Amino acid sequence: MSKSFDVVVIGAGPGGYVAAIRCAQLGLTTVCVDDWKGTQGKPSLGGTCLNVGCIPSKALLESSENFERLTHDFAAHGICAENASVDVQKMVARKNKIVSDFTLGISQLFKKNKVDSLHGRAQLLGRDGDVWRVGITDGEEVRAKHIIVATGSTSRILQQAPLDGMQVVDNVGALSFSETPKRLAIIGAGVIGLELGSVWRRLGAEVTLLEASPVFLPAADEQVAKEALRAFTKQKQAIHLGAQIDGVTQSAESVKINWRDMQGAAQELVADKLIVAVGRVPNTQGLNAEAVGLKLDAAGRIEVDDHCRTSLPHVYAVGDVVRGPMLAHKASEEGVMVAELIAGEMGCCDLNLVPNVMYTAPEIAWVGKTEQQLKAAGVAYKAGQFPFLANGRARALGDTTGFIKIIADANTDRILGVHIIGPMASELIQQAVLAMAFSASSEDLARTVHAHPSLAEVMHEAALAVDKRTIHI
Ligand code: FAD
Ligand code: NAD
Repeated sequence: MSKSFDVVVIGAGPGGYVAAIRCAQLGLTTVCVDDWKGTQGKPSLGGTCLNVGCIPSKALLESSENFERLTHDFAAHGICAENASVDVQKMVARKNKIVSDFTLGISQLFKKNKVDSLHGRAQLLGRDGDVWRVGITDGEEVRAKHIIVATGSTSRILQQAPLDGMQVVDNVGALSFSETPKRLAIIGAGVIGLELGSVWRRLGAEVTLLEASPVFLPAADEQVAKEALRAFTKQKQAIHLGAQIDGVTQSAESVKINWRDMQGAAQELVADKLIVAVGRVPNTQGLNAEAVGLKLDAAGRIEVDDHCRTSLPHVYAVGDVVRGPMLAHKASEEGVMVAELIAGEMGCCDLNLVPNVMYTAPEIAWVGKTEQQLKAAGVAYKAGQFPFLANGRARALGDTTGFIKIIADANTDRILGVHIIGPMASELIQQAVLAMAFSASSEDLARTVHAHPSLAEVMHEAALAVDKRTIHI
């Protein structure tokens, strides 16, 4: 006899596990089926984000930043750190412990909220009346009226650079090198390439990034992207734009990448390790999508409407497997929305208010529209910006790169976008998200009292700059 629930959630990443907890909170009987295998092949909840994404990468970014501060920045504070060294294996072990604490934490949250958890690969078998049947790898079957698909994504494979998990790796291998590679090549100067490149550069690797696009960070504000390219180049990361990869050959000691530059000239790069970070593809294989009539879009993602409803009745899909940015917080918000809709409540997720963050140094964060997008859409706007260099807290931190830019509608003054490059951009952006969620104007921010001295004062001054009345510049 198959067990019946109100909801079956497929996938226990930040989309699936959050949806499952919210369903249970709303009184729906819920089971979450996930097939992730962690260390020693053991089930490990949390999906990409907790196992090989957001959490482990930030743990290593923090450790490597501590090392860089100690070896490069502390001297200016009069603090001497001679003979500083790094134990990479200990650093990776710390990261692994953070991951296992968090993945175990999801199991405890499931118990606390009475979410059933099953390990295995789930597929949609079909519908009996208004009840969906879901098969799980070991032959088990569960049934529910509602299905939430949250199967996430995996690294896109580049045919010219097949992974071997040792020398040529994706994010999974790049989070677990046993020592710092002397020469690190990265294909793809997107978020993963730049974040993981930062980790290993700070620990001493010579980093070279080969990026296909002729434009650096095309989704970011142009001015932010320009400032970022300048900062990363100053850190001696070699970033080649418009690069075309011809092939990769491996020997016991090294990996050779043959590529062509923007002018078409043949180039060769030899490295100890190669990270391939050229985007991610949605996980839909094995779901039995075609047989049950689950529609995919041209990019292979599950097609959904604004409320994450798929082409099938009572089947929803959230997170990386559907349109929109591949971000953990976007996946979770969609999960909450869907749970609330299933329970008969209101639910919404505004993709325009999803913040983007890059945890590089300097950090980059933005929400809403860029100037390029507004120009293309013919929207009249005004913009104001303020540099961290003129902020007391940034000077005290010794971290003065970058600025905050606020873009507001020229007629209504409503904030349309906020772009940050600089210290703590990942935290500062939340003020902008909140302001935009409440449809604030730049004048609202300008008239809000900001603590002194704080980095948030840069946001305040940027709001004043929209009306050309900054105080400190
Ligand atoms: P996933 O987290 O991918 O989870 C899907 C789960 O479903 C997995 O456990 C998978 O094994 C399981 N599954 C798949 N198919 C089946 C099936 N048929 N049956 C059962 N289970 C199945 N985002 C941020 O917001 N901030 C960051 O700092 C950040 N850093 C990142 C760093 C790296 C290196 C990477 C790779 C990603 C990062 N991301 C970050 C992106 C973030 O990890 C994803 O957006 C997020 O994990 C997507 O959540 P999800 O629930 O949709 O899918
Ligand atoms: P990405 O889309 O950010 O970057 C991939 C880069 O690879 C792009 O710049 C692209 O032009 C380039 N590229 C593609 N094909 C190439 C080729 N053949 N040769 C050279 N370059 C090529 O993707 P990613 O860095 O792999 O990250 C995947 C997803 O994970 C992102 O969409 C992001 O949303 C998410 N992520 C988020 C964070 C964060 O929020 N801080 C961190 C890491 C990952």
